[in-house]
Amino acid sequence: MDPLSDRTRLIAAATRRGGGRRGVNPPIERASTLLSDRVGDMRDNSLGPVYGIDGTASQGALKAAVADLEGADHCWLSPSGLAAVTVPILALTRPGDEVLTTDAVYGPVRRFLTRHLSARGVTTRFHAPDATAEAVAAMIGERTRLILIESPSSLTFEMMDVTALAAAAGARGVLTVMDNTWAAGLAFKPLAHGVDVSAQALTKYAGGHSDLLLGSICASHPKVSRAIADTMEDIGLCVSPDDAWLALRGLRTLPLRYAEQARSGLKVAEWLTGRPEIARVIHPALPGDPGHPLWSRDYTGAASIFGVVMQGGSGAAAEAFLDALSLFGLGYSWGGFESLITHETPQLAYRIARPELEGPLLRLHIGLEDPGELIADLEAGLEAWSAALG
Ligand SMILES: *Cc1c(COP(=O)(O)O)cnc(C)c1O
Repeated sequence: MDPLSDRTRLIAAATRRGGGRRGVNPPIERASTLLSDRVGDMRDNSLGPVYGIDGTASQGALKAAVADLEGADHCWLSPSGLAAVTVPILALTRPGDEVLTTDAVYGPVRRFLTRHLSARGVTTRFHAPDATAEAVAAMIGERTRLILIESPSSLTFEMMDVTALAAAAGARGVLTVMDNTWAAGLAFKPLAHGVDVSAQALTKYAGGHSDLLLGSICASHPKVSRAIADTMEDIGLCVSPDDAWLALRGLRTLPLRYAEQARSGLKVAEWLTGRPEIARVIHPALPGDPGHPLWSRDYTGAASIFGVVMQGGSGAAAEAFLDALSLFGLGYSWGGFESLITHETPQLAYRIARPELEGPLLRLHIGLEDPGELIADLEAGLEAWSAALG
């Protein structure tokens, strides 16, 4: 029989036979201390963890589900998506090492690299967000230890040839860590493409309801896995059983929400493409997007987040547009059931090479609302944009 689909496996994990009479979902076990019956039992690892920091039933079930989704031997949970990216970098670099990453890397990760890590002797060099795998490989130097991949990148959504980049890095003994939040572990499987570590913000689509912060780190290579496990243990990172339980609940419906939001996202993106107020929509699943060929080659789905570049105008007009909307929330993050919109031009100031854009850059996240009604809301916003321009 062919391996089951992600959609079925995420649910079959809950109904698997042999677990005895129990609820469909694991219990939320709040525990620091875990008791043993006999002193000798305290040394028997087969009886489970002896301290809450190693996690109880809900963290265990979530780790197993995410590892299965990412096709990984090991999974660790971190208190945020940010920590899911920073922990493997901390684990795998030493003073004197160098990290290569995209100039369009997720902002807080950039801050970690340039502030925390550089103060500890690990430097970072940034490549162009649309660099080819060959161009990034040509930057590998004696000190290069790790390449951090984000594809599509944050805010400007450039695609990388991850397979070629992982192969080129591996050939030079350079490790690869990928931020896989956009694909949610569904639309792209980094480990199957030769990447060493796949990190995700479960905060986004897995959580799916904008009510928790959590990250996952997946790896299979024994040495890489050992280094991550040691760092998690040394720093003392753990997550609450309640948050793990919520993320697990989110995972059961993840494939349906992801696919539906992708469909709505494309519908809204296509509508925006035809509007004269808009110079371009940046969305790798749209034909004609520079990232579209790589996206169609490697990805089986798309996130419902994309960039919109206004045609000329001003930041003030962009803000009038956002203020005129009534269905889009004004807030950061994405992957939840609700549509969100942000004005992102100020974030581009941190880049070494600021992209040349025709006007203000907006970021839209499309939720589970009726896409036609979202489009009507955007139409009202565009009227406010035009009115603000006089
Ligand atoms: C949101 C996000 C993160 C961080 O997730 P948090 O849980 O909010 O810390 C990391 N990477 C990407 C690409 C993100 O969008």
